[in-house]
Amino acid sequence: MTEDNGSEQGPNQFETGLDRDEVANMAKLVAELAKEWSDRTFAVKILRGLCALTLESPDRLEPAPDSRHWGFTVLEIGEALDRLGIGGAQLLGSDAQQSMKRNWRKLMELWEREAPTIAQRLSARKVSLRPTLFREIGGGSGNPSRFGFRFLRCEGVANQQIPSINWLDVPDISYRQADISGNRLIRWLSDRGLYLSGRTGKAYLSVTYALFVAGVFVLWLLFVALTHAPTTLDFLKIFVSGAVILTVGYFFFGWQARLVTNRITLAPVLLQPFASSRNDYLLELRPDQETERNSLYMVRYVGDCPICGVKGHDKVHIEPGRREFFGRLVGRCNRAPNEHVFSFDHVTRQGRFLR
Ligand SMILES: [Zn+2]
Repeated sequence: MTEDNGSEQGPNQFETGLDRDEVANMAKLVAELAKEWSDRTFAVKILRGLCALTLESPDRLEPAPDSRHWGFTVLEIGEALDRLGIGGAQLLGSDAQQSMKRNWRKLMELWEREAPTIAQRLSARKVSLRPTLFREIGGGSGNPSRFGFRFLRCEGVANQQIPSINWLDVPDISYRQADISGNRLIRWLSDRGLYLSGRTGKAYLSVTYALFVAGVFVLWLLFVALTHAPTTLDFLKIFVSGAVILTVGYFFFGWQARLVTNRITLAPVLLQPFASSRNDYLLELRPDQETERNSLYMVRYVGDCPICGVKGHDKVHIEPGRREFFGRLVGRCNRAPNEHVFSFDHVTRQGRFLR
């Protein structure tokens, strides 16, 4: 016996008591798939022929002690192709064996490429058989080579599918605080927080306040300059430089406004980890229980995606809500950042599915 299927045999044994209907069903599904492939080579036609033969007489693939009863000959496959009307002449002529040999190799390669798709389709239709292509090499004139499928039993097909999700009832997500790395300032902000009524906090607040007053003053200056612009060109110049100043100002100080309104915001770019593609460091205002004053903390939150469900592997990170959830921070899953989107509440550290 020569094995020519090139694929690995799993711990599952070859099934001896094959279920006739299941084999036929498998053949039907594989034939359907093969019909959908863009590949229209003769190798695919051979596969369709094999499927048709299997559908007609699944018993022929029952692994028998006498290998002469297993599988289909080149002649039979050629005739099947003829019946399907997809051209079996190649397998009925004088160089049929050569043609089969050549195309069988191509079919094996194709099968390997398509194996995941085939397995998916079969488990979606609750077929637990996993077919592999198999060739029984014959010897002598009375014992031609035979072709067909062999099967592995894939246990627990129902469990292996991605569980269907009730989209109206996706479980809530809970966030946990994640580790923060970075320079000393960032670590300090993360571990102790900046107590805004302390000395440093007050200094920080006065600088912020001074900058705010300066910003208002600049705006006022711009307004005055605009109203006194002697020519239209001057007006445009002042207008453009004003817009640039405002944009830069918003870039550097806009987060402060968001922090005050929302009590949590994405940290400015300068405080984000340098060599990371994901900017999910946040600045959070937390009230001090005793003094009812705020401390400024640098934090990160992550959660496990309730949809992907693999604990610890599919992290949900906090990101901006973009246009759809404008002005909000949302949790986005690594695997499907634009679909597995959750609300984010930094107080309860809970979120619900947003789609
Ligand atoms: Zn997910």
